[in-house]
Amino acid sequence: MPENALTEPDPIDLPDWDAGPRDWPMAASSLRATVDDPTARRATRLADLQSQIRCLIQRARHQKLRVLLGVLNRIDQEIAREHAQGSADLSRLNRLIRYFDRLVQHLQKTHDDTPEAIALYTGSTDVPELLEDSLRRSGFGAHPINLENPDPALLEHTGLLIYLAQDDADHEREFSQLAELKKRMSACAQSLMVSQRDDFAIRAAAVRAGIDHVITYPIDSARLNTLLTGARAYECDEQITVLLVDDMATAGMYWRKQFARANVRLLFETRPQAAFDAALAEQPDVILLDLYMPEMDGVDLARIFREHPQLSDVPILFMSTEERDQHRLEAKLQGGDDFLNKSIAGDDLIRMVRYRAQRYRQARAERRTDSLTGLLNHRAITNLVDSELDRAIRQEQPLSVVMIDIDNFKSVNDTHGHPSGDRVIRRLSTLLNTRLRKYDGVGRYGGEEFMVVLPATEIEAAVELIDRLREQFADIAVTTEAGDTIHCQFSAGVAGYPEHITPQEIISAADGALYAAKQAGRNQVKARHYDD
Ligand code: GH3
Ligand code: MG
Ligand code: MG
Repeated sequence: MPENALTEPDPIDLPDWDAGPRDWPMAASSLRATVDDPTARRATRLADLQSQIRCLIQRARHQKLRVLLGVLNRIDQEIAREHAQGSADLSRLNRLIRYFDRLVQHLQKTHDDTPEAIALYTGSTDVPELLEDSLRRSGFGAHPINLENPDPALLEHTGLLIYLAQDDADHEREFSQLAELKKRMSACAQSLMVSQRDDFAIRAAAVRAGIDHVITYPIDSARLNTLLTGARAYECDEQITVLLVDDMATAGMYWRKQFARANVRLLFETRPQAAFDAALAEQPDVILLDLYMPEMDGVDLARIFREHPQLSDVPILFMSTEERDQHRLEAKLQGGDDFLNKSIAGDDLIRMVRYRAQRYRQARAERRTDSLTGLLNHRAITNLVDSELDRAIRQEQPLSVVMIDIDNFKSVNDTHGHPSGDRVIRRLSTLLNTRLRKYDGVGRYGGEEFMVVLPATEIEAAVELIDRLREQFADIAVTTEAGDTIHCQFSAGVAGYPEHITPQEIISAADGALYAAKQAGRNQVKARHYDD
């Protein structure tokens, strides 16, 4: 791998759910059974609970499950309190144990890391760490495959074929083997070549071999993430939703049957108003519009869709028998994306609809992405705070939100130039992106400010986690445009639920904590609790 390919520092000790026997749910239900046991005396139940808790504390510590450890410690304190005085019905203890049980159920679900899709790689066996991390975060499980003798069962279920081309490889031979492989894979599978060479000849050869995407070293993580999101969107088994508007009820019956076998959900409407309501409520991936309808023609309906901010870029395809070029052109100029003949074959319409839907979904994913870093952009990360807070409240989980701001960043730009500043921003993005869990949100809030959303994480645990990232970031040497190495630091503020209740409150509390960290001398993490 070339010198300038991204390399990562040693992995930090992140929580490891799988380090021990996988029986947290069992342990939690045993706690519940003990606290509920009507036959045992109060003192016996307390003693029994205490010995279980002590064991669990050891185990949580060993597996570095800080959230669980925090709750277990609270349960331990509560037991001591109950011993000393306490209620007859152990009600506080009971509530804590039930909370613990729910937390464990939640963790079990989120740690069920069965990959949702398979990626196969071939060529070099040395998978760049950045690629591995991005695959994992996009929900791909990666397996090596032998070009000479591929496993047919794997091939059939593969969504992405990755060719890690080595400099000295016999490319032509490998390309023709790849082309053979692709024929045996699902029609929706995508292929990606990661190439050390970046020249016209290699790109031309890749295109001839039917390779969909080429990326070169040093790997651009933003582009890689976009490609992987796109590859997930191309999966055949992903259900898409199509809204068909046609005044003939028979059209709906005919197409419903055709679409059902291709896992396309069809919404069918004959009236314009109902079609508009359905489009807003269901957010279809594609809209198929009859051109001539008695109440309102398709062109006017398309204009109404186009004017609504939530529907303005949904692909709209007209379905008609209209053959006159001028009419077709006018229809397209009024907001239609394409024109299909009503006599189109079922399979062709399905392919067309899938193609449009996937492009649309990919574009939507790109709109959520910050182009410099590949992280979520400002709007996407603040939306995530809203939705994760809703979820946290519903599921009685804690939630932490972190604001991170690089220290004295202006002087990096002033001393080393803006492009070097960009490198620092990208380096911190990669650190955040690769060190956090798959279901944590990482976004670029603006300039040199980042936001991290940590579901099911209490503030103390979040502070510990971010503080370790802070130390790591300070250790990273970034090479400037001029070839010097520099070190940067960041400050961070943490706040969350249940200490604060609304998204605005949480964000402004995190911001306040960040300000306090800056005031206290920078390069540190501060939190806002209930009473701050
Ligand atoms: P503090 O420790 O208080 O945060 O000081 P600071 O210098 O980091 O803060 P300040 O807000 O004064 O400056 C932030 C600078 O970040 C100013 C701006 O030019 C720079 N910046 C914002 N966005 C980008 C970007 O995308 N790339 C680069 N290279 N610089 C950026
Ligand atoms: Mg700053
Ligand atoms: Mg700033």
